[in-house]
Amino acid sequence: MQKWNLIVDVAECTNCNLCTLSTQDEYVGNEWPGVAAEMPRHGHRWIDIKRKERGQPPLIDIAFLPVMCQHCDDAPCMKVAKDGAVKKRPDGIVIIDPVKAKGQRQIVDACPFDAVYWNEEKQLPQAWPFDAHLLDAGWKEPRAATACPTGAIKALKVEDAEMASIRAREGLEELKPEAAVRPRVWYRNLDRFTKCFIAGTVAATVKGKDEVVIGARVTLRHGATVVGETTTDAFGDFRFERLDPGSGGYTLAIAKEGHPEKTVEVTLGDSITIPAIRL
Ligand code: SF4
Ligand code: SF4
Repeated sequence: MQKWNLIVDVAECTNCNLCTLSTQDEYVGNEWPGVAAEMPRHGHRWIDIKRKERGQPPLIDIAFLPVMCQHCDDAPCMKVAKDGAVKKRPDGIVIIDPVKAKGQRQIVDACPFDAVYWNEEKQLPQAWPFDAHLLDAGWKEPRAATACPTGAIKALKVEDAEMASIRAREGLEELKPEAAVRPRVWYRNLDRFTKCFIAGTVAATVKGKDEVVIGARVTLRHGATVVGETTTDAFGDFRFERLDPGSGGYTLAIAKEGHPEKTVEVTLGDSITIPAIRL
């Protein structure tokens, strides 16, 4: 049977918040029986955009991560809910029942993604229900996907086997694999949030003037292992991506004809920008 999935591309998210706003427009002031009670006007972000800044000036990377209910197949919220207050539909969508879930605050606490919000006025846990009422009415995608101007959010309804091959082919990742909840939301370019970089600028004094060095060969080693090689660009910059946070000591070796070779030791906690490496 075909089931719903969501693919979120972190590299395409510009933090425009149209997905968040279109979701608010759908649920604030509107009740969808069996799917969702009204969303409060303030305080809830059923689709939330997280921000991560990596590195230091002048080489900084800023990425945005849309987070919503992940519609887990092995959902912790469902395990703590009483009276069948959270259900998994045959098409993969998880619904927090707007009537049965009343008073069940434990559903908020059970979500490993902090995707469930507590409606104080209604004493109700609430999360993004994949716009199930719209899909049931024939919509091809939820409003967040239709509102997104960059294509950073896309929904697709396919067999699980097909989704598994799409995931493998496109390198899609779970947001929190350690939670082991079998989500139905998949992320592309998640390394912009989960991994680190080592970046820098290579410079030298040429004929008495400070200049960036273009085309210098930069090699990154972790112990005896060569992690990567690159050359500096037109601004003298280089960058090694997808490094594990807190992965310890690295050695950079920089070589350019006409200059002495230089090595730099770096300890990687979080992303590092080395402002000027002088040859
Ligand atoms: S609408 Fe698209 S680009 Fe804008 S914040 Fe949402 S996911 Fe990002
Ligand atoms: S993301 Fe949270 S609320 Fe959504 S199904 Fe998973 S555990 Fe439940």
